Amino acid sequence: MNATTQGITLPAEDTQDAATAVSPAPTFDQLGLLPELLRAVKDNGYTHPTPIQIQAIPIIMAGKDVMGGAQTGTGKTAGFTLPLLQRLARHASSSPSPARHPVRALILAPTRELAMQVHQSVVTYSKHLPLRSVCIYGGVDIRPQIAELREGREIVVATPGRLLDHVQQKSVSFNFVEVLVLDEADRMLDMGFIPDIKR
Ligand code: AMP
Repeated sequence: MNATTQGITLPAEDTQDAATAVSPAPTFDQLGLLPELLRAVKDNGYTHPTPIQIQAIPIIMAGKDVMGGAQTGTGKTAGFTLPLLQRLARHASSSPSPARHPVRALILAPTRELAMQVHQSVVTYSKHLPLRSVCIYGGVDIRPQIAELREGREIVVATPGRLLDHVQQKSVSFNFVEVLVLDEADRMLDMGFIPDIKR
C-alpha cells in the first residue's frame, strides 16, 4: 500500500449478498469491461455489478492500488478478478511458448480452500481469453505445480508457504508481475504470514 492507495469499506447496508444486488445500478457494460469478460459475466447469470464491484473495478482498471473491505458473499472476488483480467488481456496469447506466458499477476490467499475458490473464479471469468492460470498450495506433491509453472502461467493463485518453496526451487519468477492481490489480507496477517508476505 502506498500514499495513493484508495480505501473502500462498504457500509453495513451495502453488504447484502451478491445475489441480491439491486438495480438501478450501472451495468457491467457501463464499467467498460471487455466483450470477453462481459460474456463470462453473462454466462454466469450476473445482471448487475455489486456495490464493491462498482467501486473497485474502475480503480483497478485504472491501475491504481485499492484496499477493499466487504463481507463474504458481496462479490469481492469478481471485484478484483474481472479488472485484473482486463489489465492482462493485452498479454493474452495462444502461443504454446512458455516465454509468452510469464507470471503477470500474483494472488495470495491464506488457505488452500480459499486459493482454490479464487482460482475457480479466475478460470470462470477468463474462459473467453487465452490467459493461463495455476493454483499453488501446500500439502500436495510439488512436481505437477512445477510442471505447470514451466509451461507458463499469467496468473498464479497461491498460499504463501508453498509459493516460497517454489521461489527457493526457482520454479517461479516474478520479473513480469504487474498486479499483486492479497485476498483476505486481514486473515493472512492474523495467521502469522507477515514474514512470508514481506519476503
Ligand atoms: P464472493 O463475495 O466473491 O465470495 O462472491 C459471492 C458469490 O456471489 C459468488 O458465488 C459469486 O459467483 C457471486 N457473484 C459475484 N458477483 C456477482 C454479481 N454481480 N451478481 C450476482 N452474483 C455475483
